[in-house]
Amino acid sequence: MQDFSFHTHTLGFDGQNSEEEMLEKAGKLGLKQIGFSNHFIVYPNIEKTKMYPYAAKGGYASIYSSDFDEAIAKFTPHYKKINELNKDSEIKIYKGMEVDFFPSDEWKKGFAYALNILKPDYLIGSAHFVEYNGTLYNSHDLKNSSPCEQNMLVYRYWQNVRAAADSGIFDFMAHLDLIKKVGLGREDVWSEEEQKTMEAIKNSGVMVEINTSHFKFNKEEPYPSRRIMKMLAEYDIPILLSDDAHKKENITAGFEKAETMARECGITNFRNPLERKHSPLLKRLNKSVENSF
Ligand SMILES: [Zn+2]
Ligand SMILES: [Zn+2]
Repeated sequence: MQDFSFHTHTLGFDGQNSEEEMLEKAGKLGLKQIGFSNHFIVYPNIEKTKMYPYAAKGGYASIYSSDFDEAIAKFTPHYKKINELNKDSEIKIYKGMEVDFFPSDEWKKGFAYALNILKPDYLIGSAHFVEYNGTLYNSHDLKNSSPCEQNMLVYRYWQNVRAAADSGIFDFMAHLDLIKKVGLGREDVWSEEEQKTMEAIKNSGVMVEINTSHFKFNKEEPYPSRRIMKMLAEYDIPILLSDDAHKKENITAGFEKAETMARECGITNFRNPLERKHSPLLKRLNKSVENSF
């Protein structure tokens, strides 16, 4: 059984428990390492996007920032607390982020600036948004679009996932087929996009998580689907299990079931992303910024 969990969220962002509460639970479960990976989402004027009022209503608007300084201000006390907790913790605690990657040069420069200040231990790549026609769609919004628009958005979604993988800055990619949360992208016709994404992931060397949080919605599958897990096995892409815990009860939930399914799909390459030989974070990011000029 995997004795670490690196995709978790805490109070102050959109999690329901404090760092201390999460840590205590992780100890009871026998984990050796835990990583907190709250959302790092910076997009100019994000409060003017269509999805923002829903986030405000749901009480999780605090995960969104309109500029990098705002995000830095949110992470600074959280990371300081982790440093303090690490001093007398039996479990090693890592400072992570679940990052929404926006592929502009401006975003990359801002992100490099933020990383130089915050110095996280690892980064999770994710795509919760799709930009289209001057609008920023949250994956939740996609179900309200017309079928034609939905096709375009799903296509863009996979492009975003590939752009994040291609950037070479992430340690692992989150919930690859997140759009199935709203029932999209399940048809066989999307396997071509998925296959292209596998190639991008393989070339970049980034790992992929099997995320058990989807068991909450559909008892049959984690993120990603069996179809994608078979591709991950075929490409021999290194894998870890993630719970995406937004409360302490979620920590390691579904790990056994997900691992069994992954093995049934042929996956054997389970790794710890923080024990792999990977060039240091800032070096990866600087390379990515250089490449974009
Ligand atoms: Zn996520
Ligand atoms: Zn998450």
